Amino acid sequence: MTIQTDMTIQTDMTIQTAMTIQTDDIEQRLNEFFEENLAALALEMGHSLSPEVRETARQQVLMYWRKLRHIAERITDTEVRLSLPQQRTPKGRIFTIEGIVDIVRKDERVVMYDIKTHDTAAIKANIEEYERQLNVYAHIWQNLRGQRLDETAVICTQLPETLKQAIAAGDERRIAYELERWEPVIPIPFEPEHVAETVRAFGEVVDQIEEGCFAPPDLATLQNRLAGTTRTFASEICRRCDTRFSCSSYRAYAHAASQGVERRFREYFDDFGDDTEQAEHLVTGLTD
Ligand code: SF4
Repeated sequence: MTIQTDMTIQTDMTIQTAMTIQTDDIEQRLNEFFEENLAALALEMGHSLSPEVRETARQQVLMYWRKLRHIAERITDTEVRLSLPQQRTPKGRIFTIEGIVDIVRKDERVVMYDIKTHDTAAIKANIEEYERQLNVYAHIWQNLRGQRLDETAVICTQLPETLKQAIAAGDERRIAYELERWEPVIPIPFEPEHVAETVRAFGEVVDQIEEGCFAPPDLATLQNRLAGTTRTFASEICRRCDTRFSCSSYRAYAHAASQGVERRFREYFDDFGDDTEQAEHLVTGLTD
């Protein structure tokens, strides 16, 4: 779903409304779009969300709309695909960088927004990484497309913990207070001199992928806290990784864990079955 300026809300169908549309009407429509999108994703991916996760996601959409309505209503170009083709890796491979941003043009000023699902503190603590990526997009927009650009910023969609707690408590006054305090828009300075360095860093990753270098980070990295958060690499990144149960670093992390959900995994990781089960597994593997 995309939300465009002039109060146009767009999904499979487009609803063009007058400026008189009420907030409640929009939130009702957002709820309907949310259900439609979930149903489509369930059909496409073959699995659905638990009621708790579904409700959390719905609240995130609604809070995001309430907080950023002033930007959503002014967005003039949604999901603009930016492409930097024919780049060369350090080892000579050709690759293309692509990104998607939103653009607001208002009163002669043009602002580029990059939407991220990370939380505000994590982005602020690692601002250089976001700055590099957005600077590449700004370079494409300004220099290759010849478009004006006055500001760049990241929008964080993840709700702050205090706001989540207020929602869980159902306390409308606290929700309003926490919404007011939330600052999901982080301005990013445009540093054109960093663009070449960023393209080279992307190229190094392309070379690693092409050469099959997929070694995970070591155990210490998984155990360390991520800058700007109270969470470790494992709890913030690995828990969302589909390959974690076959990842040697994550297994080592689970074996060493004295708390958290990983503590329970040990018994499964170490359960190789009895002799009969192991023999059956071996025979099955030989005959397949
Ligand atoms: S579990 Fe996934 S994210 Fe974590 S180290 Fe392994 S591959 Fe990387």
